[in-house]
Order: sequence, then structure tokens, then C-alpha cells
Amino acid sequence: MEAGDLDAVVGPLDSLAYLIAGMGSNDVKISGRIAEGLQVVVATAPDEPHLGSIFGKLVVNLDPGAVDLILSRQKLAPFKRAIDYRLLFAIAAVGVVVLALFLYWVRKLRTLNRALNRANSKLHEVSITDGMTGLYNRSYFLERGEAEFELSRNRSLRFTVAMIDVDHFKPVNDRMGHVFGDACLRHLADILNAHFQRTGDLVARYGGEEFVAYTLSGEKDQVRAFLERLRENVAESPALVDGETFSLTVSIGFHSDVPGRADTLEQFIDKADSHLYDAKRNGRNRVNGDL
Ligand code: GH3
Ligand code: MG
Ligand code: MG
Repeated sequence: MEAGDLDAVVGPLDSLAYLIAGMGSNDVKISGRIAEGLQVVVATAPDEPHLGSIFGKLVVNLDPGAVDLILSRQKLAPFKRAIDYRLLFAIAAVGVVVLALFLYWVRKLRTLNRALNRANSKLHEVSITDGMTGLYNRSYFLERGEAEFELSRNRSLRFTVAMIDVDHFKPVNDRMGHVFGDACLRHLADILNAHFQRTGDLVARYGGEEFVAYTLSGEKDQVRAFLERLRENVAESPALVDGETFSLTVSIGFHSDVPGRADTLEQFIDKADSHLYDAKRNGRNRVNGDL
């Protein structure tokens, strides 16, 4: 301007203020103000900045009537923020895929979890069971027995341990074979299982042809009769193996008492075992114990 040029610029107030500040000159005249509410915008390609600014100035100078006329002839399209449906669809599709994958993994994890739980409980079952008879094994008997022994001590309940041993089983094996012997032991296990069914009863295979049981049920005068019934039941229920019936008898030693402070499960088992020894010595097929 100082060089004799006349220059003009049209634009929003804040842009103009910025421009004037950068000019380093006060030789500026503000010649007019464009009506507010003018909302027509012209866009050009980014590599055409001059064309854009020329159109910008043109549009700013249009009066609203001319804008309406141009719009009505559809020479200029009113500016609308277009919704990019393709992008929206792509985002939705990705979302659906992610959700589907997530649900798939949740399902898969749940299935795996269930299988793991089943395997775990199967493993636990196997670890506490005697594979041949299906009864509990000795270690589980001792584990549960300790807990129940403690309970009966604390509640002053009678605790009975019974050792049950098959009479003259070696000759059975020798004559009939081991497979036959196994079948006889399974038959006996079924009888024992059916007998020790009350709450607080547990029967297990102690080893070989020897079984052990504890019970928290029964008064002093009932314990012996309960075990006598078991002995009779065994004697009166021959095993049926390969079409052959075979009679077995058992000897039973027991110890029954309310556990005192110094008593242990091991002591009860030892006492029952020595009573079993006496039952054998006294002729077998009998119940022997102390109350
Ligand atoms: P007792 O009346 O004194 O108990 O005589 P017994 O012959 O039963 O006792 P012994 O201890 O002499 O023999 C036990 C036999 O039990 C020896 C073995 O052949 C048999 N036995 C132990 N475990 C098993 C088993 O798992 N299967 C079979 N078939 N036999 C077994
Ligand atoms: Mg025996
Ligand atoms: Mg034995």
C-alpha cells in the first residue's frame, strides 16, 4: 500500500486481526461488514489455494437473494456434512467381528473350564477310590477319618472303627484263581457298601482282602449287633461268579468309644486290628471288639 498498491481482503474478524498484526502497518481501512448468518461456503482442491480465496471473496459478496437463487437452480449445493456410510459400515463390521470373536472365546473358555472341572473331579475321584472294588481307598479313609474323629471328640460322640478281613482267602485264590478272587472281593465290597450307608459311615479297602470302616452312628448296645448283622449278611450271601456260587465269611474286629483328649484314630485302628487278630484266633467268622 505504501508502494502505491491498493489491496483488499475479506475474511472473518479473528483472521483479519491476525493479518493486520502481522503487517506492521496501521494503514488499514475497514470498509464494511458482511451480514451475519451467511452460510455459503466454496471449497476448492487444496492445491488451488488462490482459486479458493477468489471464490471465497466472491461468495462473501453475494447477497442472500443471489445465494437463494443459485441454490434454487442447484448450481451450488447447500453444504451438508455427509455421513460416510462406508466408513460407518466398516466400523460396524469390525465391531461385529470383534464381538463375535469375543463371544466365541467366552464360549470356548466356558467349555474348556467345564471340561477342566470334569477332569479335575474325575482325577479327585480316582485319587480317593480303590480301582478294583470301587470303594474308597485307605488314604481317603485316614483323611476323612481324622476329620470325623476330631468331630466326634469335640461333640462327645461315639466313634467306632471296624476292621473286616476275609477268612481263608488264600486257598480261594489258589483253587479258583485270582480273577475269581477279585470277583469275590467286589461282591464283598457291594455288601459292605450297602451296610455302611448311614450319615457318618465310611467304608474303604484297607489293603488286600482287608477292609476298614468307621461309623459315628449307634449307641453302645447297638454297635456289636450292627456288625454282627454284617457278618451274617456276608455268610448268607454267596458270591455268584461265572455261574458258580461261592460262600465267604469275614472276621471283624472293632473298637468303639467316645474319643478322649489323648486318643488318636491310629490307636482306634490298632485296637480294632488286635481284636480282629483275636477273632481269627478264636475260629474266624466272628465279631470281636470292645466298647
Ligand atoms: P485269614 O483267614 O487268616 O485271613 O486267611 P487268609 O488266607 O485270608 O489270609 P492271608 O493273609 O494268608 O492271605 C490273604 C490272601 O488274600 C493272599 C492273597 O492271595 C489274597 N489277596 C490279597 N489281595 C488280593 C486281591 O486284590 N485279589 C485277589 N484275588 N486276592 C487277593
Ligand atoms: Mg484273610
Ligand atoms: Mg488279611
